[in-house]
Amino acid sequence: MAALHAISKGRLRMQLTELAGGAVAVYPAFRRVLGLSAAAAQFLSQAVYWTERTDDGWFYKTENEWLAEVGLAADEVRDSRKSLKALGVLEEQRKGIPAKMFYRVDEAALFAALEGDVPAITLNQLFELYTPKLGQLSKAGLMRAKRAGVPCEFVSYADVLRRDGLICGCCAKPIERGPGNTGMHLSFDHIQPLAAGGAHHFENLQPTHAGCRAAKGGSVAYQRPASPCSVDRTSVLSVVPTSSLTQEQPVVLPKDSRCVLDKTTITKNTQETTQETTTVVQLAPARPKRAAKPRDEAEQIRQEACRRIWSAYAAAYEQRYATAPVRNARISRQVVELRKRLGEEAVPVAEYFVWINDSYLIRSCHDLGLLLARCEAYRTQWATNRQMNATTARQLEQTQANLNAAQTAAEAIRAGEGQPNAFL
Ligand SMILES: [Zn+2]
Repeated sequence: MAALHAISKGRLRMQLTELAGGAVAVYPAFRRVLGLSAAAAQFLSQAVYWTERTDDGWFYKTENEWLAEVGLAADEVRDSRKSLKALGVLEEQRKGIPAKMFYRVDEAALFAALEGDVPAITLNQLFELYTPKLGQLSKAGLMRAKRAGVPCEFVSYADVLRRDGLICGCCAKPIERGPGNTGMHLSFDHIQPLAAGGAHHFENLQPTHAGCRAAKGGSVAYQRPASPCSVDRTSVLSVVPTSSLTQEQPVVLPKDSRCVLDKTTITKNTQETTQETTTVVQLAPARPKRAAKPRDEAEQIRQEACRRIWSAYAAAYEQRYATAPVRNARISRQVVELRKRLGEEAVPVAEYFVWINDSYLIRSCHDLGLLLARCEAYRTQWATNRQMNATTARQLEQTQANLNAAQTAAEAIRAGEGQPNAFL
């Protein structure tokens, strides 16, 4: 070891390169933001590298080459491809004789994914990708319960998912990401927390967003004014005995709700909430689950706005490309996101975007994901009615240079007032 430390840094690297070959780069955000495994992040980083270096983005690589280049074994390559395809960022094609597997990174989808627009994972994809992980989590859950000294049995988290589906037990919104510890990722939660005497039993477990679970913490009933998973909760739900109900409006619950409706009714927590009500809330062991959010006026206005954005984009697109743009669930989410970020201005900006003559945008057929990825910048361009493509940028630069020269001249004249003028 001492000998190794004696080697200067530069030499260590040189010797390593000789012995171990070149190093490869990895984008840490692929793990942090996209929630990929280390292998998949490495795979994607290398795929980005090669996509950039070919004319049409397609490159091929055999299993042996993946191993030699980035050190990924065949099963890691297989799992990486599955999760990247589930994210929508990797395209594959078998071409040539003999047939080889070609890959390409879908740049628009990658930008969109990094901005948080990831296609929702389906239950089937989740089982395909994460069955071993679910097994590990089930075992770890049992160990934790044993340590907590509560009644426990082995609970298969996969079975919990089969029973409840990918719906958060706390906020009743869909869970769209695989298992993880933060935000919108899938996590599992004891309906009645272990700290409050809850058992580690099948009936007491539910899938949740990791963020909702963290926010719920050790409290028995779920009572949180703001959730990290962008759930609009302006009114807090609480459980009160039916007897104390007078004129309050009961909230409509979907059929599959497992709330304790037989003894109590869920009501909106109004300002008349009494001390008695609060006490009941803390004692109630039930979860106020899946309370349906009324499709109010605001929601209709939002949908109407999204429709206008889409029609503006689609109309311009049809005019330019003589074909209608594809509409699918991912595109719909992009439209929603666009409305969130630009508001009403999204309508003219979406139309304006299609007519921008930038070679990169034309090659990508003005993909909506590209608009979303840089929508604030395109809004500025629309607002100033100037397309900031390479040509105008160069023109502006030129104009600025001329202005600077003129200004320098003017200053020189001003500085030399009263003396013979160099410019006259
Ligand atoms: Zn949630």
